[in-house]
Amino acid sequence: MREPILLTPGPLTTSLATKTAMLNDWGSWDGAFNALTARVCLQLLRIAGAEDSHVCVPLQGSGTFAVEAAVGSLVPRGGKLLVLVNGAYGKRMARIAGAIGRRVAVLETPDGVAPDPAAVESLLRADPGITHVGVIQCETSTGILNPVAEIAAVTARAGRRLIVDAMSAFGALPLDAGAAPYDALIASSNKCLEGVPGMGFVIVRAEALEEAEGNCHSLALDLLDQYRYLRATGQWRFTPPTHVVAAFGAALEQYFAEGGQPARLARYEANCRLLCEGLEGLGLRRFLPAERQAPIIVTWHAPEHPDYDFHRFYDAVRSRGFILYPGKLTQVETFRVGCIGAIDQAEIGQAVDAVRAALDELVWLEEPVYQ
Ligand SMILES: *Cc1c(COP(=O)(O)O)cnc(C)c1O
Repeated sequence: MREPILLTPGPLTTSLATKTAMLNDWGSWDGAFNALTARVCLQLLRIAGAEDSHVCVPLQGSGTFAVEAAVGSLVPRGGKLLVLVNGAYGKRMARIAGAIGRRVAVLETPDGVAPDPAAVESLLRADPGITHVGVIQCETSTGILNPVAEIAAVTARAGRRLIVDAMSAFGALPLDAGAAPYDALIASSNKCLEGVPGMGFVIVRAEALEEAEGNCHSLALDLLDQYRYLRATGQWRFTPPTHVVAAFGAALEQYFAEGGQPARLARYEANCRLLCEGLEGLGLRRFLPAERQAPIIVTWHAPEHPDYDFHRFYDAVRSRGFILYPGKLTQVETFRVGCIGAIDQAEIGQAVDAVRAALDELVWLEEPVYQ
């Protein structure tokens, strides 16, 4: 029996080649590992299209560690971060800024509603104390695509700096560093680049990083310190997640062999289309309007039945080989299904069949929701 397919946006299903890349042990000071780190960082910069303006700073830990490192390193202690919140990850960025003692302002829109660039512009005009704007490219708690290019334009026009949490978008959804200027773009190994979890990275504008001296509240999360050590020695400061980096290197090779960003996006779009057609065919309803849906993760309203229980639904789908994601909304009962990972339309088709069979089996459904 095949191991379950993860329909979760990171950790996600990785390829056999990515998994087997973890079968070697690496010396953290060894030249071969340093070369691997350098190659991975260069490839990430290439994907960002930012080789001439930005540098890539890798960081141990999950994606949140990299968000905290970017906010703590780039927003000066006397600075102020305006966070555009329309879900859990925007809330988390605002919470990070507060926790490390930065002043924070929040522009909150309901789940599933994108921030209005004009509203951002007037907030920036009204509060000259705001030095940085934080935005989530794909808010994974619903799957909404936020208008980052437009936000980048108003932020630049107002003379402020932009920090983009592109965690669940980078590598699939393009964001041109030239056209949408940002000081920092944050992502991790285990989302659209299809590596395993354990490292984040920040694509940071070289000049902004050099100005970051003395900003950071933390030693371990200081991006400038991490970067200087890496540049001087070729090594990570502190023990690197060697096997994760090796798997990431293999995943990146596969990424370029597949055709890079356009090919990755096309596969995810095909996955998303098939998933939506399939589950809508069962009578399930999407939470987001189609025009704001990113092809990363889809939020679904729970089947309408008073006895619906996510855990039983999860187990019924799990027993058929697929792992769903719970909803992350407070107001409405939802569940989520990811479109990303080393899967294509074959697995998505099987997943739709598994959901159909699970709904059919569950006793709280006297009548199946599909026709
Ligand atoms: C996954 C994710 C993160 C980071 O989450 P971790 O669990 O710390 O890896 C941050 N922002 C967004 C938008 C994400 O999707």
